[in-house]
Amino acid sequence: MQQISKRLMNWASILEPSTREQAEKTAGMPFIFPHLALMPDAHLGKGATVGSVIPTLGAIIPAAVGVDIGCGMAAVRTQFHLDDVTAHPKPLSELREAIERAIPLSAGNYNTAITDTAAPRIEALTAKAEKSGFDPARYGANWALQLGTLGSGNHFIEVTVDETGAVWLFLHSGSRGVGNRIAQRHIKVAQELCAKWWISLPDPDLAYLVEGTDEFWSYIKELRWAQEFALQNREEMMDRVVACTSEWIGTDVVEIERIACHHNFTERERHRGKDVWVSRKGAIEATEGKPGLIPGSMGTASYVVVGKGNRLSLNSSPHGAGRNYSRSAARRTFTHEDLRTAMAGIEFRDTAAFIDEIPQAYKDIDIVMADAADLVEVRHTLRQILNVKG
Ligand code: 5GP
Ligand code: MN
Ligand code: MN
Repeated sequence: MQQISKRLMNWASILEPSTREQAEKTAGMPFIFPHLALMPDAHLGKGATVGSVIPTLGAIIPAAVGVDIGCGMAAVRTQFHLDDVTAHPKPLSELREAIERAIPLSAGNYNTAITDTAAPRIEALTAKAEKSGFDPARYGANWALQLGTLGSGNHFIEVTVDETGAVWLFLHSGSRGVGNRIAQRHIKVAQELCAKWWISLPDPDLAYLVEGTDEFWSYIKELRWAQEFALQNREEMMDRVVACTSEWIGTDVVEIERIACHHNFTERERHRGKDVWVSRKGAIEATEGKPGLIPGSMGTASYVVVGKGNRLSLNSSPHGAGRNYSRSAARRTFTHEDLRTAMAGIEFRDTAAFIDEIPQAYKDIDIVMADAADLVEVRHTLRQILNVKG
């Protein structure tokens, strides 16, 4: 850990100057308390840095949670062993295709009807919205059909194996279109309010809402709803992945444990004797003993961790490896052949579209995990045998 300033603590040994500058701008906002914590996987984001923990007192920056509110991970440890999967007479490609059929990338395509497992989740989300005084249809008439969809980019589903040979199901997604629209709307409201009061900002995306105003509480309510939507979206997808895996193997999956983990979220927490709004944008909660999930990339290791409760980090840890190349730079630098080499031995959809997701486009996960040594303890190291990308 390196203290950059009184308001900025940094855990990243790989840190672009532009990322550091962006974090310094956010750390300079007057309502940051006690300080901003920059995680090992930090890289440039919209307004606020991905891989940062932004605690605020009396105000909130909607862009500090990111546009994919509630994005995060889910994992299930199954009773199966590596051999149950790799020595199975059916090809792994069949399992991949079954997962791809069961979990559409977006609403409309396949997700045309609400399934039995999705229905109670949608009911609960509808009730939660009603209680909060808003109609989610305002953010997309088909919001309910978005539940159980993966999305694109680096959202993924994997079948992985840990160091003991145990098979884990592992996935990454967020609050989809409905959450994105909620985020965009409140960023815009914050920008309009800051303009109305002649507030000059170091970056327009650092626009904020002041605690106590109607706009602030309306944001908090909808943010909480979007976080719940994202969590339920992952639970729904995980149920479908479990069903596909049971069907493909021919034996029902027994869930030994299931872990849920947000990495774009805001919570009210107590730090240094004060109640603050802690926004983790590409960071996970790492309170002492708390399980967490840190994905590496489509071709490198991922980690099941437990928090160490590091107070300076506000009980946080990295959420992944973090990008080292922008998507366009990765496409310029790497080839389809490089991708195939990096993915040797892993069942995946082999297309040039994933060149910008090549493992080399991300920071070295070993360095990130070494930087995070005082934040989390590694419980399991996962290696993927099958990858489905959004
Ligand atoms: P983000 O939430 O910021 O979009 O990305 C989370 C992290 O997931 C990335 O920083 C990267 O380390 C990791 N990641 C991206 N794609 C994959 C993938 O296909 N498989 C695994 N295991 N990790 C990935
Ligand atoms: Mn994410
Ligand atoms: Mn996301």
